Amino acid sequence: MPLPNILTIDGPAASGKSSLGRRLADALGYLFFDTGVMYRAVTWLVLKSGGDVNDEFGVTVLAENVLIDVRPPSKADGRACDVIVGRNDITWETRRPEVDANVSQVSAYKGVREALASQQRRIGLRGRVVMVGRDIGTVVLPEADLKIYLDASAEQRARRRYDEIIARGEEASFDEILAGVRMRDEIDSTRAFSPLKAAEDAIIINSDRLDADEVYQYVEALCR
Ligand code: C5P
Repeated sequence: MPLPNILTIDGPAASGKSSLGRRLADALGYLFFDTGVMYRAVTWLVLKSGGDVNDEFGVTVLAENVLIDVRPPSKADGRACDVIVGRNDITWETRRPEVDANVSQVSAYKGVREALASQQRRIGLRGRVVMVGRDIGTVVLPEADLKIYLDASAEQRARRRYDEIIARGEEASFDEILAGVRMRDEIDSTRAFSPLKAAEDAIIINSDRLDADEVYQYVEALCR
């Protein structure tokens, strides 16, 4: 059987989509595209310019006009890809806590979604791609050959995010991370336009009792 040409991985925040997607893309020699970075880049640009994330019109105009370049990682500092706007590398800025706190608001706007989804679809249709997000199997690339929906309980996801931050030697509060994960879940899954949900033909994997290796082995076997 031929390998799937277009692979999508959707699921809630911190469910392990990016680690799984990156590993699969490496193994298959495919492009790894984490679409969340585009919503994060728009959010960072709004905040940096002193804009208001509640200003739907202003945020949409920005999303329609900005060119966000997502490239393979140029540094081995833990990044999955480079996020470039103009001449600026904003990869780590897009991971800041203020972006986490505001990105779901920004990505709920219809115009923002339309602007970014059309760029994502254009790249995805080239094929040999593992694309990760919230609405990739449902809206951006419904024709994908293999769709995974990766889920886990909010506690488990917050625990993994907490452990990652502590392992980097930084400080974190588990309760704050859990509250943030729950808030993003709520906004992402109840928004009017392309909400977070599994496509009807997606394979749903709950990773509460599986480690990252087990999930990878399972999906890799599905591909082959
Ligand atoms: O995956 P990540 O946590 O980086 O995504 C950040 C945010 O971007 C999500 O919480 C969601 O609001 C938004 N997003 C989206 N659709 C996608 C990818 C991300 O709405 N395809």
